[in-house]
Amino acid sequence: MDIPPRTRAWIEVAAPALRRNYRRVAQAVGPDPWIVPMVKADGYGLGARQVVEALAPEGPSAWGVATVAEGAALRDAGVDGPIIVFAPIPPQGVEAAVALDLAVAVSDPGLLARLAAEGRRRERPARVHLEVDTGMGRAGLPAASVARWAPAVSALRDGPAGGLRWEGLFTHLHSADEAGGPGVRDQLRAFRTVASTLAPPASVRLHVANSAGAFRLGAEAGGARPGIFLYGGGIGPDLPAPEPVASVRARIVRVADVPAGATVGYGATYRAECPERWATLAVGYGDGLPRCLGNRGHALVSGRRVPLVGRISMDVAVANISGLPGVEAGNVATLVGRDGTEEILLDDVAALADTISYEILTGWTPRLPRTWTEAE
Ligand SMILES: *Cc1c(COP(=O)(O)O)cnc(C)c1O
Repeated sequence: MDIPPRTRAWIEVAAPALRRNYRRVAQAVGPDPWIVPMVKADGYGLGARQVVEALAPEGPSAWGVATVAEGAALRDAGVDGPIIVFAPIPPQGVEAAVALDLAVAVSDPGLLARLAAEGRRRERPARVHLEVDTGMGRAGLPAASVARWAPAVSALRDGPAGGLRWEGLFTHLHSADEAGGPGVRDQLRAFRTVASTLAPPASVRLHVANSAGAFRLGAEAGGARPGIFLYGGGIGPDLPAPEPVASVRARIVRVADVPAGATVGYGATYRAECPERWATLAVGYGDGLPRCLGNRGHALVSGRRVPLVGRISMDVAVANISGLPGVEAGNVATLVGRDGTEEILLDDVAALADTISYEILTGWTPRLPRTWTEAE
């Protein structure tokens, strides 16, 4: 039996806002930009297939994923255009990557040799984006020692006959989202030094910008691999804010008038100071609502901001709706998003939970149906 998605708790995703955020990135790095929307972690938790469907009309240059399995899922969904796997892949992933014609980021000449062998075996050259480590320190060939490893990547020049197709050279910025973008210039300089040492053919795309980098570097970035900005997450105090894309809603399942002294939640960490009215929301940490929002976070009910009281449970949370008349079971509470003139931003929730919007977005569990809308 199909249960309608908006029965208990759900995420609403606004496709038009996603597209407008995409266009703002394209405008920032244009004209004729190379844009690869990052749809890793199931499209930052919102549904990679739907993100692809919503953004395909914008004509992105490729799709960015983190793992071979994510690339395989897109192929299963009928995506036959370019897909790039950005996180380093283990040797065990080579066969599937080549079989599925996924481009892979390469940090290690050993992987290059395996890819080349697989490319020759399948008579389908393995597509490669060579990563340069300019300070992230987690992947890539170290910029500082390019003279040492440059000969080891010369196989890239052998082209299809050698089993490889060299498509890109890139680095990843570590602090573009901090005010002023500390280190961006240094990373760019290191990257350019590597690029001039390797002197790749003109067909090799050079790319450096995440969302924040796109707005910091503009046309100089030449292209971008935007993620969080598309999905409505802020990219830095001195950079433009995206449009919100995702709202998280939950039904109210109980309204109770409680006397002074009543307690709520595990550990009874909140006690009513006077007679209060509480609403139980059908959403908890088992849905991805950070447990640390207990006694700290808020919800919007009937267009008003109300505090979450007591600890968040796995399946429910409780809001203090004292003074709000007319609230009843079945009404909708908003954990992220707008209700009337009030709004809770993804970044507000992230800040309260002492984390980043990325972790909040990717933390919503499969229990919340993602409901996509074309409505404004
Ligand atoms: C995730 C990722 C991005 C996107 O970063 P945002 O900050 O979400 O824009 C870009 N490039 C690489 C290599 C990534 O892994």
